[in-house]
Formats: sequence, structure tokens, C-alpha cells
Amino acid sequence: MKIATSPKVLYYHIVADSFPEIYPQGISVSSFFTQLRAFQQKGYNFRPLSEVLADPQQFDGKDLVISFDDGFAVNYPVLMYLSKEYKIKPTLFLIGKCIDNREMAWNHKLILLKQYCSSEKLALIIDNYVPGATPASLFSCVSMSDKDEIANSLWNEIMPFSEKDYLNNHKPFLSISQLESLLDAGVELGIHSWSHPDFSRLSYIEAYNELEQCFSLMEEVNLPCHRYFAYPYGRPAATAVESKLIEKIKLSATFGISYKLGDNRSGDSRWQRTKMDGSKIMNWEQFYLSPYLRLLKHPVHALKDVLEFL
Ligand SMILES: [Zn+2]
Repeated sequence: MKIATSPKVLYYHIVADSFPEIYPQGISVSSFFTQLRAFQQKGYNFRPLSEVLADPQQFDGKDLVISFDDGFAVNYPVLMYLSKEYKIKPTLFLIGKCIDNREMAWNHKLILLKQYCSSEKLALIIDNYVPGATPASLFSCVSMSDKDEIANSLWNEIMPFSEKDYLNNHKPFLSISQLESLLDAGVELGIHSWSHPDFSRLSYIEAYNELEQCFSLMEEVNLPCHRYFAYPYGRPAATAVESKLIEKIKLSATFGISYKLGDNRSGDSRWQRTKMDGSKIMNWEQFYLSPYLRLLKHPVHALKDVLEFL
């Protein structure tokens, strides 16, 4: 009896030797290429996402797709090297408002605030804007329609420079010309929403606008983009909202981050990804064990997944 396995989509945020302060975590370039070599030695093949999604049945658990979220500029050399030297075509899921360093998303602002303000002072200021909220709980306390206004108010109160100046000086996100070069090298593009909200807390119309605005910008700036959408924080919209989005926005696939046995098969519009830029040991644990963790957490559901494959 053979348990069928499906292709896996890996995701990263930062692969670099020095992490930008806007997202100060990830893995080093050497760890990344060590991972790639290990996969290749074990007989895994790297595929472009478009090839896998075109006919998922042609692929199995030995087929991997690499993806990167948020569109950070620090990844540019690795992305180029990967495409040109390794002939591996990763997919980038871009945040619309961040493309070309026009703006940053609220989550990036909160990360920066924590680095420019003492935790005591930040806690007081946050409590002042959102009574009862703490730096840790702000994410869940803020309604998604208020998130940008609150992040901007906090920025204006705390930061010694404007968002625009920060973006001009640091250029943390990929520029349009970098994206054009990456496209020429074979990198594929999808979207990661306009402003990086938690889609599980959006109405249909809010979710629609997030995606529509992003795809419109991609058209406006002439960046060919697949109809792929990776959920920010891996938090999916309600099923009814997602079905309507898929239909109206003509999405080919959506991506969450809770891969388990039975995911990533043809016929499913929701795909799942596996995080690979945590600490070194965790990456392999994630890769090998995450499908089975569900067995411990939700034995009945997991058993159903497995039975479907027998
Ligand atoms: Zn993200």
C-alpha cells in the first residue's frame, strides 16, 4: 500500500547574511544553499509554481516549489543566483503597497517601532491609542479597517523620521526594475494582498479590494503576475469569502501555511506552504513532521486525510 504524496511549496522571507531592520529574521545564504543541496542529494526536484499548478497530478512529494513573501530587496542577489545559476524559478508573493518602496505595510511599521522605542514607552503609547492593548496583543485588538491609521499614528508619535524618508534611505523592498530583471531571469510573481491584513477578519468586499488593488497595480506597472494569492500570516478568509474571491478575481490558487497530508492535490484551489527559514533544526522538523503534527492535534481529521489516500 502506497500513500500518495503531493508537491510541497516552501516559503521564506529573508535569505541574507545581514537581516534588514524592517524584518530582522531569516536564514543565512549558506544555510539556504545547504538546504538546497540537501534536498537535491535526497532526490528532490525544484519546479516552478506555474508548472506544478498547471497539472499537479504530474508531481509528487519529491517535487518542491520555492517561494518568498513580502518582496524584500535584500533577497535580490540570492533570487538572481537561484534563477540563473541553479535554474530554480522561485515565486515571489508581493505586497501591493510596498512594491517599489512606495509604502510599508502596518506589520513592518510595528516591527520598526519596537526597535526605535523602549518596550515600556511603546506599551504606554499603544495603550493610549488602543485602550487595553499591549505591543503583543495589538495585532488581535485592532480592527483591520483601523490598522493602517493606528500604525501611522504610532509611527508619527515615536519615529524620528517619516515613513517616506525611511523608505528612500533604506529601500527595503524590491524596485520595479529589480522585479523586471527577476522576471527576465524566470522568477514568477503572485500577490500577498495590498496591505497585509488578517483575511480571517475581513468582509468579502474588504478582501476583494485588497486583491483587486494589488492586481490592478501589477497591470499598471506592467509586471506580469500569476493569479496566485498567498494569505498574509497564512490566515485564510472564511470559506464562503474565499470561494467568491476565487470566482470574481479569477484566482488560480490561494496559499495557506498549514500543510498536512492530503493538501496540494489537483482540484484544490487552496494550497499550503511549509516555512523553511526558521532556526535550522526547526526547518527540517517543519518539512518532515508538520503533516503529521495534525495527527496529534486533530486525530480524527488526520485519520480522514490518511484514509483518503489508501
Ligand atoms: Zn507576509
